[in-house]
Amino acid sequence: MAARLIDGKAIAAEIRGDVAARVAALAGTGVTPGLAVVLVGEDPASQVYVRMKTRACEEAGIVARDITPPADISQAELLGIVDELNADSSVHGILVQLPLPGHLDETEVTERIDPSKDVDGFHPVNQGRMAQGDRDAFRPATPAGVQELIKRTGVDTSGAHVVIVGRSNIVGMPMSSILLQKEEGANATVTVAHSRTKDLAAVTRLAEILIVAVGRPEMIRGDMVREGAVVIDVGVNRVEDASSERGYRLVGDVAFDEAAERASWITPVPGGVGPMTIAMLLQNTVTAAERVGSALEPTAV
Ligand code: NAP
Repeated sequence: MAARLIDGKAIAAEIRGDVAARVAALAGTGVTPGLAVVLVGEDPASQVYVRMKTRACEEAGIVARDITPPADISQAELLGIVDELNADSSVHGILVQLPLPGHLDETEVTERIDPSKDVDGFHPVNQGRMAQGDRDAFRPATPAGVQELIKRTGVDTSGAHVVIVGRSNIVGMPMSSILLQKEEGANATVTVAHSRTKDLAAVTRLAEILIVAVGRPEMIRGDMVREGAVVIDVGVNRVEDASSERGYRLVGDVAFDEAAERASWITPVPGGVGPMTIAMLLQNTVTAAERVGSALEPTAV
């Protein structure tokens, strides 16, 4: 393997340490950051994510409140829960775990969250402000985590050709918006590829930084990677593996061994982007709490 490994676990641990220090500083002002996580139904994968988020919150000193309505909750009842959380001053961040069961309208629920508590960064107000260059807008955790991984690895994005494969609202689209910003860790020349892209390999081979968020196991082969590229694999896919106790293993969207032969840096799956997503969520939550805390301070005359 020629590539060096980008250790998402270690970088996420640094960020979580910073968050814990900020939480401790806030305690002095009487504010304890609170994150409410709404998980509708009993989807096992979502339950695992929510447990991981709750544990990470507790470790950082953030109070996590899990709200777990049944899968047959009505739209009106779910909106009622969001309204209550919006009005609750002990809750600084609200996260509604997606996807929601099919009878519920995700867009309406997302838009109901107070943008100042939208620590997932999915509200159109935050997405719009982010796209317009507002540094205070909450950014979606996964693409924000990818930017942070690249920055902390010391890779210069300024003027670099970044190719993002995938254009979802939670990863690819906001990723492109973040890397286009006029700021440190951005200023990139961004190409976004998707399922209609012609000759995907020709496009990915142009990438000095290749970010893949597709959801197809090992779709990006070694010959699709430019020599010396930085490869960030957002994908998390379960593939059957009889030799594993669980009967499956996790792989990314990139064929790791092949890509590592050509890349200069590469993220593993698991242990790359995944831990960063949670770390950035905690960071957004403490930021939301700090804003409320500072708003409560008496104004100087
Ligand atoms: P998504 O909403 O399904 O979007 C997938 C994107 O990939 C779409 O834009 C789609 O194009 C594109 N695509 C599909 N097939 C393609 C092909 N053959 N060639 C080129 N592009 C193709 O998925 P997502 O929510 O962005 O998630 C992507 C992956 O990231 C998944 O594995 C997911 O589990 C993972 N993920 C990980 C984290 C984490 O924390 N590590 C967080 C979020 C997501 P069209 O738009 O044309 O359909």
